[in-house]
Amino acid sequence: MARSARETAGLQALLSERTIIVALLSLLAFFWSIELVDTVAGILIFLTIAALLVRLEFKRHRTALRSRIRETRKLEFNKRGGIKSVRANTLNAVPLPILIIGEDHKISFANHSALELLGDDIVGNDAYLYLRQSKIVDAIHQIFDSGKKHAGVVRYMNKQKRSFDVTVSRVSGTGGDDVPTQAMAFFYEITSMLQTEQMRVDFVANASHELRTPLSSLIGFIETLQGPAKDDLPAHERFLKIMQSEAERMVRLIDDLLSLSKIEMSRHEVPETIVNLDAMIQSVVMTAEATGKERGIKFKTSIEDNSTKVIADPDQLMQVLINLTVNAAKYADRDTKVHVSAEPTKNKKQVCISIRDEGPGISKEHLARLTERFYRVDDARSRKMGGTGLGLAIVKHILIRHDSILDVESELGKGTTFSFKLTRAK
Ligand code: ADP
Repeated sequence: MARSARETAGLQALLSERTIIVALLSLLAFFWSIELVDTVAGILIFLTIAALLVRLEFKRHRTALRSRIRETRKLEFNKRGGIKSVRANTLNAVPLPILIIGEDHKISFANHSALELLGDDIVGNDAYLYLRQSKIVDAIHQIFDSGKKHAGVVRYMNKQKRSFDVTVSRVSGTGGDDVPTQAMAFFYEITSMLQTEQMRVDFVANASHELRTPLSSLIGFIETLQGPAKDDLPAHERFLKIMQSEAERMVRLIDDLLSLSKIEMSRHEVPETIVNLDAMIQSVVMTAEATGKERGIKFKTSIEDNSTKVIADPDQLMQVLINLTVNAAKYADRDTKVHVSAEPTKNKKQVCISIRDEGPGISKEHLARLTERFYRVDDARSRKMGGTGLGLAIVKHILIRHDSILDVESELGKGTTFSFKLTRAK
């Protein structure tokens, strides 16, 4: 293997140093033999020259060792694929799937994400086997047949319903490498974007449906009052009462929808106000007691001394507490108790607030979906109670803004506990 110019120069310098030392030693021996130098001075000069020789040997070994290390590293680098492996590592570091496809349509490279998406054994196989969608196949054709640089964006969905926008581009050899033209397929994942889009569409459809029901009923009653029941005064009174409650339901629904959009708008603002939890819980319980009074629901509060102050948005915290306590008052069994408590967490940094009722409980299959918009366990009961199906969704979004989550524990026939944690204020 050829030595680098620097190494050769270093070795030459060492050789010349060695020649000088040998010459000096020979000179010293000569002067000594003709007794031009006395014994002590001779020994001193000899020792100095010997030290120089040792240092020289040491330097020579170090240079040789360094050069051996460099050679080994180079060999290892080449064994691992040299510069090609650097490119492969770079593509492997991209967290989105990338495929390099040759003119024979065989996959010549797949990064880690692509292997994860399409399978471990794809390299060396025909790309069409894995990307069966005709638009992607057309895009690869375009790259090789018409010499296009980019073949546009193609939507791809796999069996697990993950969706991607795939861009197919031409890759030509660069930097003098002897690399033939290849096609690169880059998969940009859009699954969560499509899910959000779908959620928005569903939300508009659900909200319209929720508003249409009371509105249709109002129109029906107006027509009846104008027609068949025109002169029926007792019917007027009955119908007007129903119309009023339907109109109030629409107002509640619109209020809840507005609340949700307001919460979404403020979701990036971190709450900073110190809230007196004790006073707030007492006032919320008074409101909830009014709702549950007719059904004999009683409230019991327990707030530990060291849990009275939390950091929160006061209006939003009030809304969370009202929604949860009023729900407890609405859904708990007649003549039962609702327990509202606040206590510090183990590390004392947070306060855990919980609302426990002695109601019918919620079965497991409903728990995960409880905070979805318009999700109701018992549709008829919720509507009869004037529910909008948005209360717990509002709670969830407010808690997200407070860097907290809503915990629900429930046992059928025993009751439900809703709880959440907030940062404790000193
Ligand atoms: P709603 O306006 O219908 O009360 P929420 O979002 O507040 O809407 O609650 C969603 C559903 O969760 C309710 O319809 C109800 O079926 C159920 N739910 C909420 N709180 C309780 C509770 N404390 N006990 C039993 N079921 C509850």
